[in-house]
Amino acid sequence: MALFAFDNSYARLPDRFYAKLPPTPVAAPGLVRVNTALAATLGLDAAALAAPDGVAALAGNVVPEGAEPLAQAYAGHQFGGFSPQLGDGRAILLGEVVGPDGLRRDIQLKGSGRTPYSRGGDGRAALGPVLREYVISEAMFALGIPTTRSLAAVTTGQPVYRETPLPGAVLTRVAASHLRVGTFQFFAARQDVDALRTLADYAIARHYPDIAQAEEPYRAFLGAVVGRQARLVAQWMLVGFIHGVMNTDNCTISGETIDYGPCAFMDAYDPNTVFSSIDHGGRYAYANQPGIVHWNLTRLAETLLPLLAEASEPAIEIAKAELAGFAPAFEDAWHAGLRRKLGLAQPREADLALAEDLLARMQANAADFTLTFRALCGAAAGPEGDAAVRALFADGAAYDGWAGAWRARLAEEATAPAARAAAMQAVNPAIIPRNHRMEAAIVAAVEHGDLSVFEALLDAVARPFEDRPGLERFTLPPEPEERVLATFCGT
Ligand code: AMP
Ligand code: MG
Repeated sequence: MALFAFDNSYARLPDRFYAKLPPTPVAAPGLVRVNTALAATLGLDAAALAAPDGVAALAGNVVPEGAEPLAQAYAGHQFGGFSPQLGDGRAILLGEVVGPDGLRRDIQLKGSGRTPYSRGGDGRAALGPVLREYVISEAMFALGIPTTRSLAAVTTGQPVYRETPLPGAVLTRVAASHLRVGTFQFFAARQDVDALRTLADYAIARHYPDIAQAEEPYRAFLGAVVGRQARLVAQWMLVGFIHGVMNTDNCTISGETIDYGPCAFMDAYDPNTVFSSIDHGGRYAYANQPGIVHWNLTRLAETLLPLLAEASEPAIEIAKAELAGFAPAFEDAWHAGLRRKLGLAQPREADLALAEDLLARMQANAADFTLTFRALCGAAAGPEGDAAVRALFADGAAYDGWAGAWRARLAEEATAPAARAAAMQAVNPAIIPRNHRMEAAIVAAVEHGDLSVFEALLDAVARPFEDRPGLERFTLPPEPEERVLATFCGT
């Protein structure tokens, strides 16, 4: 039986959408891990993928039956500067599979060798960043956040040269599609309106089939992407996730999180947090993320102008009207999410101010974002839980000053305390892939060939909302000497 029942639609698009070429073989493929649960979701045989023929395919040494390998063309704004040609410089789309759930997904190898879009790069990926993407994308999935996923990781038996030689690896990425804002920008930059229309029709059919029949489908398409991206970034904000490199080529049309490079979760709450070593101006700091998504969507809207109306002025008006939907969509999702985090089922006008007051006190007292909300679940059950929250604040009185108002507000709710605590535990994770844990997993794998730390972390983040005995260490912030101050793309 074939490894994948490929059904490839992207490869049917016009030639100028991609370059067709196979992955470049590697010296000695070695299995790191196959994601058994995801394989089942996709209707794939995990055991076959983990067998030698499967590993050879995942490393790019064999093109699996039915694949039509290609590198996608795209452009993008990187840190605000436009590059008219980026494209998959180190990734190959093998093809698409339709799972038992009826959903079509891309199967892509990342780190699979040079392509016509590689520019100066070697087309490869190092093991550390591959493990990082594997863990964090799977953590995001477990947290209920739309994301690309990781089907497998393999080592190549070849070094990649960054500052030092590092073990090479290939990640098998699964995505609803790899269409990006930058894909639209690629054709807009070439004033190729035919291709833009083809691409928009393809994106609508694949991700927004309901609007194919809309009176103004391209307008509805823009509005739908705006809505999905607004809800996505709200979900990031609610778990303290910092993407780190929100370039337009890393902003999907499907509304999935993509491209896990220097991303990280915040420990102590500080809206100015930046981890990425290349983000000198703090462009992609935690608090800037909604504004950056809106900026990226504005770039998408610009590419669609020729499809929105014949004349440019009405087209601009339509684009503006759809972009105006961003703020209310984001705010709805953010406010509703904050309410859930605080255990408030019935909305009240003053809830946002209550949440903002807590956040301000957390910031002033270096309170850990994840632990504070998790500990609040206990405090929601009764005041005996207050001590655990208090202890997270540099000055416990800062919490006391807020807790009184929160308790008064909770008294207006009908929910019983135990049910409220349980509902809060289902949205406030105990376990996130903390940066120092991720770093430790990478060091063990890269420096000592020990994958057990990676495996343990992956197991921990897969069930983020449970308190599991023996996993307490994954809930804790770093000790001062464990703190990771900068993260790297590893490209
Ligand atoms: P990213 O920062 O991962 O979004 O990548 C930006 C662009 O650089 C994309 O076109 C990538 O395909 C390309 N790129 C990143 N790393 C490499 C590499 N090692 N070799 C070739 N191209 C790369
Ligand atoms: Mg990218």
